[in-house]
Amino acid sequence: MKSLSSAVAYSVLDLFYPPHCAVCERPFLDNERAFLCRECDTKIERIDQSHVCRCGIPLPKVLDLCPSCAQSERVFEQIRSFGWYEEHDEDQVLSALIKIFKYGGERALTPLLAGYLVEAGESLRPWIEQITFVPMTRKKEHERGFNQAELLARELGRLWKIPVVRALEKVKETKPQASLPYKARRENVRGAFRLAKFPPCASILIVDDVCTSSATLSECAQVLKDGGVERVYGLTVARAAPPADAQ
Ligand SMILES: [Zn+2]
Ligand SMILES: [Zn+2]
Repeated sequence: MKSLSSAVAYSVLDLFYPPHCAVCERPFLDNERAFLCRECDTKIERIDQSHVCRCGIPLPKVLDLCPSCAQSERVFEQIRSFGWYEEHDEDQVLSALIKIFKYGGERALTPLLAGYLVEAGESLRPWIEQITFVPMTRKKEHERGFNQAELLARELGRLWKIPVVRALEKVKETKPQASLPYKARRENVRGAFRLAKFPPCASILIVDDVCTSSATLSECAQVLKDGGVERVYGLTVARAAPPADAQ
């Protein structure tokens, strides 16, 4: 695998022609056609959804809530994520894909990643009236040229045939959550979001690419609940495992 910094500098044409895997760069065999080779696909660490906490973390069978959810007020009905995320592990396939998508501007990966959302969010779908996404500040979105969470939400809405709304706006720049100790993350995003318009629904799903501590999702959910939405759900492609200082 080449270094991520050079991988993300690639343009769409460089990355996908001739057809090859976005992560390991092996040319595709005749029957492989989806941006990711079969070998890389099998390396993705999918989250076992058979018994998860409402925050989306897998639990031992004897528990119904993780220690963190047991101690905190319920903001989300449920959060679900497709696979594990490792911020600093360049060999981790899902993290590499998300970084190529987000920082490399590789929007062509949207259908692949939205397909993961479909898979992880299947149990939430019957409860969702509208879909929204974690917003960026206007300045950040202008610099990047797109909001990766919005691209994913819009593709998910298309696949699920559920309306996608811009329910939130980000009004304060925040530090990258991954750069902060776990407990400082909620403080970092406090007051960063407000309602863009009242979502006229009882239940809404917030989409994001990665959930590192759920602080951003929780802040967004609280704004929606304060605005009158009864039930808020969350869905992300990837999820960072809670660090030791989480509790
Ligand atoms: Zn590959
Ligand atoms: Zn939990």
